[in-house]
Amino acid sequence: MSGAPERKITDLPALIEALQPQDRATAHRLFDVGATTGRLDPPQAMRAWIEKSFGSVNAVTEQRIVRVTNRVTLQGTLFNGLRASRPLEPGVSVDLEREIEATTGDPFCRPEEGTPADVFGRVRGEHAITASNVAKYDGFHGVVVFDDHNPLRLTPEKVSDYVSVGLEWCRKALEAAPQARYPFLMWNCLWRAGGSIIHGHAQVTATRGTHYPKVEHLRRAAAFYKAEHGSNYFDDLCRVHGSLGLAVPAEEGVRAFASLSPVKEKELVVVGRSPEDERLRRTVGALLQYYVRTLGVSAFNVAFYMPPLAPVDEDWSGFPTVVHLVDRGSPASRTSDIGAMELYAASVVASDPFRVADVLREATSGRPGFPASRHSRQTDGAASHSSGSAPFPP
Ligand SMILES: [Zn+2]
Repeated sequence: MSGAPERKITDLPALIEALQPQDRATAHRLFDVGATTGRLDPPQAMRAWIEKSFGSVNAVTEQRIVRVTNRVTLQGTLFNGLRASRPLEPGVSVDLEREIEATTGDPFCRPEEGTPADVFGRVRGEHAITASNVAKYDGFHGVVVFDDHNPLRLTPEKVSDYVSVGLEWCRKALEAAPQARYPFLMWNCLWRAGGSIIHGHAQVTATRGTHYPKVEHLRRAAAFYKAEHGSNYFDDLCRVHGSLGLAVPAEEGVRAFASLSPVKEKELVVVGRSPEDERLRRTVGALLQYYVRTLGVSAFNVAFYMPPLAPVDEDWSGFPTVVHLVDRGSPASRTSDIGAMELYAASVVASDPFRVADVLREATSGRPGFPASRHSRQTDGAASHSSGSAPFPP
C-alpha cells in the first residue's frame, strides 16, 4: 500500500485507541486485547544461527506478543510479531501439482460407478455431483464431488455451484427426514486440511435435535449479546473489523474481513444473508481463488454456519450465514499446525490479519465485482456504515 504506514497486529492496542469513539467503544465491547513482551538471553554460540533464521538477535531477545480474545464467543488468539514477520509465498508448488495429478483416475473421477448414491438419489449441478459418504459423520452425510480432479483449479462460478449443489442436497435430506433441519457444509482441501481424498470435494451433513455445538454456541453468544447490548453481534463484528481496515473485498450485500481472533492462519470470515444468495457463494469462491493464487494457500478448510432449513424452537432471528476460510499450512510440512494450545487453550497464529487484508485488497483492486473504491482503507468506515452494514432480516 503506497504511502500508508504499515499497520501490524502487534500494534493493535494503539490502533484501537486511535478509532473514532463509537467504533472504539464497540471494539472494546467485542475484544479484550493485551500486549506483552517475551525476553530471552541467547549464548554467543547461538547468535549466528539466530541472525540467519530471524534477521537479527534483537528480533529474538525481545518478542512482542498480542493476545486477542473475543469476549462474546471466548475465542482467542496469540500473535507473535516474530512469527508474523515471515514472508507470504504465493503460488502452488510444482511438486504439489504433480502429486495431485498422480492420483487422477480415482473413484471420484467416475462418481456414478465409484461412489454410492444417497437414499434420495444424487444432486447434479453444472460442476459437481453428490454422493453418499461411505463412513458417515451423521445420519445424513453427503459428498459434493467436483468435476475437476484438481481442487485448486477453482473459480467463483465453480465454487458457487458446489455450494448450491450442497444446499439442494440438504433440502433433499430434509424432505427425506423432516427432523434433519440443521445443515452444515464443509470443505477440507488436501490432506493437510483433513481431506482423505485428493480429488476436489466438499461435504454436507444434516443433523437433528439442535445444531452442531460450535454453531449453537455462536447462536447463543449472539443472542446473549443482543439481549445485553440491544445490537446485532454480526453487524458489530463487521463494523469493528471495517473500522480497523480489516475488511476484504466482497460482492454487494456481502461482508468479509480478515479475523482479529483467527482460529489459525489467514482466517477470513464472510457474512451474508443466505447461502441462496449467489453473491455470497461467489465471494467465497473469489476469496478462495485469491487464497490460492496470491496468498500461496493450498490446504484450507471452509465451513458454512447456516440457520436451520425449517422452523425450530430456538430463536435464530438475526443469525446470518457465516462462512469461515482458513489456511492449514504447507502440504509439504510434517509438523501439524495445531497442537495442545489450539485444542485446549488458544490459537497461536503467525499471519498478520492486517497484512492479509492489505494483500487481498491490492490483488483485487479494480476487478469486476470487487470495486476498489468501496474497499480502500480510507473508505472502510463509510462502507461498513452504508452498504456494508445493512441489518439482517428479523
Ligand atoms: Zn479424481
